Amino acid sequence: MILNDHDLKIQLCQIMKELYSDKILTDIGGNLSFKSIEKGQYFWITPSGMKKDLVEPEHLIKMSMDGKVVDESGNGDPSVEWPMHMRIFAEDEDFKMIIHSHPPLATAFSILKEPPEIPILTAELGFLVPEIIIVPYKQSGSTELGEAVAEALWDSNVLLLENHGVISVSEDSFQNAAIKTRALEEYFQLYLNSRRFGGEIRPFPGFE
Ligand SMILES: [Zn+2]
Repeated sequence: MILNDHDLKIQLCQIMKELYSDKILTDIGGNLSFKSIEKGQYFWITPSGMKKDLVEPEHLIKMSMDGKVVDESGNGDPSVEWPMHMRIFAEDEDFKMIIHSHPPLATAFSILKEPPEIPILTAELGFLVPEIIIVPYKQSGSTELGEAVAEALWDSNVLLLENHGVISVSEDSFQNAAIKTRALEEYFQLYLNSRRFGGEIRPFPGFE
């Protein structure tokens, strides 16, 4: 059970290393954050520009919900995506942990001008990602991106960002947000692999 921000910082860094080694996060692509469970309206976010597998709890940056750095001890600037994270936290109490990533296949899909309709393919993927939702392009680091993402999160807690990557939120653990992120990437991997065999794809029959 998570008791304080310190435990959550450790969880964040652990997940970050796992996602980096799975190539879901790239050297400088992606950022993680969580809403403080201690007193006050704060959140913690990963620093800008630091290689993902080198981020430790002491590097995380504490910010207020009006966008000010309140603890300089992280020794760096917050991720440039902090306005998006802040806007998502403001949207709802249950949006507590955020993983923004650039997984190779999901990001490739996000740049297609006319992305194909992909049906639900298996029971597990249908359960984890019931619908592939693409948030229209807004500039990185803008409040507009946060606004668009926050709104779409009411429909799914894992989303594609057009010409950009993926965002996933959880109300209880980074592990759950990571599972959704991986499931979305796996969805595209499975789709691509079955296309390589040729022939028609049979949608999973259990979700009609
Ligand atoms: Zn990004």
